Amino acid sequence: MKVELQNLTKIFPSRNKKTGGEVIAVNDFTYTIPDGKLVGLLGPSGCGKSTTLYMISGLQKPSSGKIFFGEEDVTELSPENRGIGLVFQNYALYPHMTVKQNILFPLQNLRGADKMTKQQMLDRAYEAAKLVQIDELMDRKPSELSGGQQQRVAIARALVKMPRVLLLDEPLSNLDARLRLQTREEIRRIQKETGITTVFVTHDQEEAMSISDEIVVMKLGVVQQVGKPQDIYDNPTNLFVAKFLGTPPINVFTGKVEGEKLYIGENAVLDVKGVEDKAVTVAIRPEGFIVKENGAFECQLSNVEVMGRDVSVVSRNAASLNPVIRSIVDADNKIDVTSATVRYDLKPHKVFLFDAETEERIYFEV
Ligand code: ADP
Ligand code: MG
Repeated sequence: MKVELQNLTKIFPSRNKKTGGEVIAVNDFTYTIPDGKLVGLLGPSGCGKSTTLYMISGLQKPSSGKIFFGEEDVTELSPENRGIGLVFQNYALYPHMTVKQNILFPLQNLRGADKMTKQQMLDRAYEAAKLVQIDELMDRKPSELSGGQQQRVAIARALVKMPRVLLLDEPLSNLDARLRLQTREEIRRIQKETGITTVFVTHDQEEAMSISDEIVVMKLGVVQQVGKPQDIYDNPTNLFVAKFLGTPPINVFTGKVEGEKLYIGENAVLDVKGVEDKAVTVAIRPEGFIVKENGAFECQLSNVEVMGRDVSVVSRNAASLNPVIRSIVDADNKIDVTSATVRYDLKPHKVFLFDAETEERIYFEV
């Protein structure tokens, strides 16, 4: 089931009583979630991810715009009638019910033509439980489960009605690092097995990159960029997106273009054909540096951190907008750690230029 969002906007009266006014939580969001895919909604806290999800679910009504499930306009439809499954950050299980009763609960509320027999409900509940691998725990209470297991129950409960669309709002935030990794792989597997169109909200770029078919990057209610994770990483449309994706984070410098050459400080570090003279912000991925004795870009060497296959070279430069520059290079590189400086050449496709004022991308030929 494809989900089409047309010019979705949500305006709230501000919660701040002093300043008053309005908050545009989501601003003119237009995007079609492809049928059967997992889409990651990514952005910092407060950028409108949850509000978008709640509008898709029907829990919140858009101020303007429309939502279609397939060809059906669901904008005015109540959440119960949309055929959605919702999972929140805090598992929100009924504490006094067993796992089985929790999963059965949504089915017991079905009315009319959807009403099921006891046996049908049980079969469905066990099917959902098997999918998330908790079918051995059906008679336990939530308090007797780990956080990861509780979240699986919540997912099973969301899946049991066989929703048309599965909506997950930061579902892994309450789990510890190891469980988070494992559960995200599980969610990916379940999504692939069921083929349910899924929206996965997260502020964690790594999580979004690893799990999504497509990512939507948001900032202050506005969609910044949409695309496959790798494409966005390789081709960020503005400085915000470049900075939001990637670990270690991208290295950012003030720079200038003069005579089709890019300067960082005094160093002419790259040919940038077709770019007019102007002040720019330069962003370089950690893997964009080549350590070279006579490299074009001179930095002050701080230290070298060994990470096994790679080493992380930590250096400094007066033009850097980050406290330190972090480059990742192959461990085979011979780096003189006693030297005060380190010189780099740059990989052109790992270097992005942005207008110093608008922070929009400036493209150049390599
Ligand atoms: P996210 O999920 O990305 O953290 P939200 O969608 O929860 O962001 O919120 C987006 C913006 O809308 C924030 O500025 C938030 O304070 C505001 N907001 C969300 N819900 C309400 C509400 N019910 N009333 C007023 N403002 C709200
Ligand atoms: Mg949220």
